[in-house]
Amino acid sequence: MLLPFASVAAIVLAGMADVGDRTEAVRSAIAGGTARNILLFIGDGMGDAEITLARDYALGAAGRLAMDALPLTGAYTTYSVEERDPSLPNYVPDSAATGTAWATGHKTSNGRISTSPGDDRDLPTILEIAQQRGYRTGDITTAELTDATPAVLAAHVTNRSCQGPADMAACPGDRKSVGGPGSIAEQMIAHNVDVLMGGGSARFDQQATEEGRTAVMDALKNGYFVIGGAAGLDLAQPGRKLLGLFAPGNMTTEWTGLEARPYPSNVEAPQVCKEDNRPAGEPSLAQMTAKAITLLDRPGSTGPGFFLQVEGASIDKQDHAANPCGQIGETMAFDRAIKTGIDFAAAHPDTLLVVTADHAHSSQIVGMPTDADHPSGLISLLLTADKVPLTVSYGTNSYHRSQDHTGSQLRIAAMGPQAANVVGVLDQTDLFQLMLRALEPIRQTVAR
Ligand SMILES: [Zn+2]
Repeated sequence: MLLPFASVAAIVLAGMADVGDRTEAVRSAIAGGTARNILLFIGDGMGDAEITLARDYALGAAGRLAMDALPLTGAYTTYSVEERDPSLPNYVPDSAATGTAWATGHKTSNGRISTSPGDDRDLPTILEIAQQRGYRTGDITTAELTDATPAVLAAHVTNRSCQGPADMAACPGDRKSVGGPGSIAEQMIAHNVDVLMGGGSARFDQQATEEGRTAVMDALKNGYFVIGGAAGLDLAQPGRKLLGLFAPGNMTTEWTGLEARPYPSNVEAPQVCKEDNRPAGEPSLAQMTAKAITLLDRPGSTGPGFFLQVEGASIDKQDHAANPCGQIGETMAFDRAIKTGIDFAAAHPDTLLVVTADHAHSSQIVGMPTDADHPSGLISLLLTADKVPLTVSYGTNSYHRSQDHTGSQLRIAAMGPQAANVVGVLDQTDLFQLMLRALEPIRQTVAR
């Protein structure tokens, strides 16, 4: 196959990133200490390949993402453990087990939400500890709010599928009828998290089978301001808890394009992604992040500030779907949310900001396919910002099946107090310990 791009293949070297002198940022991070605020960004399924693919397509090979500017970077391992024998590793984890690891500091088996493998004990989470120490808390996502990553902070159930009161089949011991804490939706409201935003309104509208109540009714009774669209963000005020539910299921992806397919379909011409897919009624992740920070911040106070988790959820979901445009659009939207966080942290140096992922995923950047040599899995050609075709391959499951997670280690990068502790090779459970150190009883004189 011949592609007509050789004439424009020269990458513009003048555009290469200059990282500059980071000595001061590194020096202040090494000072350690406690943080008034923690901003934790979790890119679901955002392995090194996903980051590189988004950079190559949207900015060019020599471009740099906002997350690339963080001064300190390390790697961490993400394996989970087996339910039948927690001493055995499971090399390919899911978001429930990995979320439990960073949220509680404990390994668990795939599917569990902040509960221990085997004996099903509740494991205290970093959000619960932050609340006990007087921090405001927030938990936002582009998935359903009851999906695994947001759930691990403010719920404890046997299985991630127990999202609403009508979804409790896999969690018999968590049912309210037997004295349990109820579904993920009900527990998130009962936890009094100050800011909750994402999709998943259908879960919050499910009636509890025993009592006929919904989690939205619980939220209103519990003092939450409940909104269902982007316009409602302007009405939310500090001092009142916010529940924003912007879609019945997962929120809409920012970009769309053609799914990857087996060679030789889909390779006649490299595709250009369509970038205007999100409806106006749904806020972007960056808008949600900015609003959450405004609601949670306590300007002028010298005591504890806030803990906020921001999940870019559909990087993973579009990777499962072998849809490179959907995946890249979500990675770029996540990066814009990170930029919002970095701007806040730069103005508030007592903020620990961490960017990482929960598990690696399927997509790979591979060579140009030919009749003789091409991946056996699914491929898609993309026309990058360099005006050069790039081939992405998905090969962790067969065509028309959900592409699987992978078991590679991940990037973890940070700025602010405790950020120096991301350097080297860690385990995902170390992120909990790092955030816990940042939450040590706050010093009373805080420079702002
Ligand atoms: Zn996944």
